[in-house]
Amino acid sequence: MTVVSKGKITSKLSDLVREGCITEISSVFRPDSLTECDRRLLYHCKNKQTFHKSKMLHNKAITDKWIDLLSTTKGVRVVEKNVVVADANCNINGVIDIIVDFQDKIFVVKVKNIDSLVFDKIKTNGPRRKDVFEVQAYIWLSELEEGLLVYEDIGDQRFDILHIEKSKEIIKSIEAKFGDLVRYQVSGRMPKKPENISREYCESCEYHKICSESLSSK
Ligand code: SF4
Repeated sequence: MTVVSKGKITSKLSDLVREGCITEISSVFRPDSLTECDRRLLYHCKNKQTFHKSKMLHNKAITDKWIDLLSTTKGVRVVEKNVVVADANCNINGVIDIIVDFQDKIFVVKVKNIDSLVFDKIKTNGPRRKDVFEVQAYIWLSELEEGLLVYEDIGDQRFDILHIEKSKEIIKSIEAKFGDLVRYQVSGRMPKKPENISREYCESCEYHKICSESLSSK
């Protein structure tokens, strides 16, 4: 007797779940991709970005867990959670996971769920540049002075909490880069290919073909 089968019903259901998992978001720049190549960022916006709902729900579950953990941690007060922040001049829009009050200071908190290899690398080499820029963007957009970057190992739930102080220099560089990108967006032009970009990075880029064609037609 067959009790397990993969038939029309299950394939239909799988297709519907897959379809429902894709959410399109509007043409804005996001704080988690500030260090990407300028052209890639513009292609993202032009083609509208898609988000996998299952990834979003996974991230939400991790953030909710950290909200619970911090809420029950002695000396910590959760001030806000899931705060939407934006800057119209730079067309940046994002969500701060948590804002906490600890030792008379207010911190924006960003939680990153990563695999063991990345976790070990960060333990040795320090935080990833893109994560530092993301926290700096949230510090700037929330008009606060300090941030906390929480790295959690997806495998065994080890975690590390890093203190990120406001860097006026980094914030200035974000404003300058995205101010320029908005001008490109409005004019419909594309910036030059960044000089220090590696071949491997370009080859793994989802816009490699269209980008190479546009560069060679000039
Ligand atoms: S192929 Fe390279 S230069 Fe072009 S968008 Fe991608 S990363 Fe940028």
